[in-house]
Amino acid sequence: MIQSVELYKSFILGTISVEVLKDINLSITKGEFITIMGPSGSGKSTLLYLMGGLDKPTTGKIIINGQDISTLSDQKQSVMRRREVGFVFQFYNLVPNLTVEENIMLPILLDGKKTKNYREKLDEILDIVELSDRKTHTPRELSGGQQQRVAIARALINEPDIILADEPTGNLDSKTTEEVMKLLQRINEEKGKTIVQVSHSLETAKYSNRIINVKDGKVWE
Ligand code: ATP
Ligand code: MG
Repeated sequence: MIQSVELYKSFILGTISVEVLKDINLSITKGEFITIMGPSGSGKSTLLYLMGGLDKPTTGKIIINGQDISTLSDQKQSVMRRREVGFVFQFYNLVPNLTVEENIMLPILLDGKKTKNYREKLDEILDIVELSDRKTHTPRELSGGQQQRVAIARALINEPDIILADEPTGNLDSKTTEEVMKLLQRINEEKGKTIVQVSHSLETAKYSNRIINVKDGKVWE
């Protein structure tokens, strides 16, 4: 359901072009839980962002649910991104002056849909991430782990098939890391979501079914 075909990505730095990803061919099937590992600067985040259409390949294709997303217009790409992919980041990226429920509803608002049609879904998701009693709190009133659970809830509200997470536990202590990883595992097993996470630690990689290593622009499994 996520495929990369002869994927290349370079960045121009001044007058030189740095080739970060070279001929990456990957196939991730529905329901897999993948961990992308590799040294700092190897291109893990770049690969994840390309998979979710947050950035465009220099050449090559990313195919999501049968559709080559690089051929879509920018507008269609952002619609695809909101409907089919949920993102989770290391530093949560919550809006500080919005409440928990407003943060979770953001993708619905951005998609021009009515939040009132998503109240039940919201309650179901708050129950999954165990934050039903925190609806009206703002992010600064929450712990790091709770904030990351809000970010995961926000990634789920649109019911995407795919969750992409860039070092989702990179900012958390080991106990909270375990909590968040178990939550992701549950979302993978019970909801059948495809999850691709970037991680530095084998401790969190053990929750996934497959590890993809990125090094020198290439991948190894
Ligand atoms: P880390 O583990 O530190 O997060 P990473 O594996 O996620 O590293 P990337 O963020 O994918 O690495 O970056 C890979 C390389 O591409 C780095 O050399 C980085 O400087 C470069 N790079 C990433 N994004 C850009 C950009 N927008 N412009 C220029 N160079 C970039
Ligand atoms: Mg990174």
